[in-house]
Amino acid sequence: MRFPLTLAHILERAGRLFPQSEIVSRLPDRSLHRYTYADFCRRARVLGGALQHLGLKRGDRVATLMWNHHAHLEAYFAIPCAGGVLHTLNLRLHPDDIAYIANHAGDRFLIVDDVLLPLYDKFRDRTKFERVIVVPLTGSSVPAGFEDHEALVAQSVPLEAPVLDEEDPAGMCYTSGTTGRPKGVVYSHRALVLHSLASALPDVLGLGNHDAVCPVVPMFHVNAWGLPFTAVMVGAKLVFPGPNLDAVSLLDLYEREQVTLTAGVPTIWMGILQALEQEPARWKLAAGMRMVVGGAAAPEAMIRAFDRFGLRVIQGWGMTETTPVAAVNYVKRELAQVAGDEHYALRAKQGVPLPFVEVRAMTGDGEAPWDGKTMGELEVRGPWIAARYHELQEEAGKWTADDWFRTGDVVTIDAHGYIKITDRIKDLIKSGGEWISSVDLENALVGHPKVAEAAVIALPHPKWDERPLAVVVLKTGLSATADELRNYLAPKFARYWLPDDVVFVSEIPRTSTGKMMKAKLREQFKGWSETNK
Ligand code: AMP
Repeated sequence: MRFPLTLAHILERAGRLFPQSEIVSRLPDRSLHRYTYADFCRRARVLGGALQHLGLKRGDRVATLMWNHHAHLEAYFAIPCAGGVLHTLNLRLHPDDIAYIANHAGDRFLIVDDVLLPLYDKFRDRTKFERVIVVPLTGSSVPAGFEDHEALVAQSVPLEAPVLDEEDPAGMCYTSGTTGRPKGVVYSHRALVLHSLASALPDVLGLGNHDAVCPVVPMFHVNAWGLPFTAVMVGAKLVFPGPNLDAVSLLDLYEREQVTLTAGVPTIWMGILQALEQEPARWKLAAGMRMVVGGAAAPEAMIRAFDRFGLRVIQGWGMTETTPVAAVNYVKRELAQVAGDEHYALRAKQGVPLPFVEVRAMTGDGEAPWDGKTMGELEVRGPWIAARYHELQEEAGKWTADDWFRTGDVVTIDAHGYIKITDRIKDLIKSGGEWISSVDLENALVGHPKVAEAAVIALPHPKWDERPLAVVVLKTGLSATADELRNYLAPKFARYWLPDDVVFVSEIPRTSTGKMMKAKLREQFKGWSETNK
């Protein structure tokens, strides 16, 4: 039987099978909004109908500028099920970039949180949304000139469910690259459905109906890694943090709602860890809560520290172009006996590819052997890997002639199939003809008890071409010297890997999605060796 893989099926099924599952959202005033899947499915359908009534046609893009909450989830399903394309805008970007992205995507409508209207005001004159729908999260009345989201979902205009093709576009996100213009990636219904099925597998995120899932990763960062779709597919309880993302607010929410799986970038978990270490007995979290980490490397020290609290870090690897989950770390049966440092070295790798995702590491001489040593650029292909960027022909070189996507990540792959990222290509350090992995050095540095964060960058060097410089943020109230940290690294690395110097800073610049802005650091410290040696 030919049966289209669409999000409409997931919404329909959720309404029928899981009407009592709960959705909890923390609102900007910190109060909790609660309702059930029955309410969510009904409102999502009505919103879809209302969008059609406002003129939404098949393939039209609808932008969202929203925090993580129930109304955003409604948009996640309403838009694609009405035949439109859900385009989540990153509210942390500069208003100029948001305007560029909305225009490049050709967004017709915008759904925006009332608390984000001041941000919208900063770029509205440069965009041409035909309708702007405001979600009154604070309960205040919606200003004139906008559509009131609550009034729309209170109507009873039924969704005229279009016959969707699984290849129809359902969503799109723009890359949050550290350099260059953002690039748009379009996700089909089929890609999102297959990605959800694979994500829920036991050896991937192991998501089921009994879970309480809290996506801390923003719903504008690659669809919160697909978790809203996957969670609704299995009827899990959903817990949304809204805009309150500090460690204490999150821990309070985890405890209160007994969250079993949460997801975010490493900086979020570093904050959570510091709060737990300061008050180890304060929160009674669900035993074995899984914390999915991605977007940047999860340091080994962090994985160990959470194990001590009975919390399990699961590292995943992905990109906007890979929908995003493409590899996840779990300990394979054949490695279950590996203990101690080796166990943690294994868990700190980015993981093994999901079913239907193929990977290879390419060197100048062809495919690298899976020996855990030979570095090459990671290339991927599979049913939820993008085949092109939205209206950007000049980037076609990111795909090989035989349709592999070049990720720009330099990796090794070991004999068991575990991928380990050593660097982004542009961040690799080449010293005296040898590669040095900045990621390995950073992970080791954050294992030092006084170090909160570390970035290692290449500085030009007259003799060696490049040499590493470590840029370090110390934990509050602590002090350390460059030699102390170099001595700490010395037993772990070859001598030529050791950073020539260590600079202490109060903050490492990060992108809107938590990645270290190494290009900015290289610029900031480009004269360092001459002035300090
Ligand atoms: P984005 O498209 O913004 O999600 O960024 C994708 C990039 O984030 C990847 O190409 C990697 O460089 C990086 N990344 C994602 N997950 C990880 C991870 N687990 N460890 C290290 N880097 C990661």
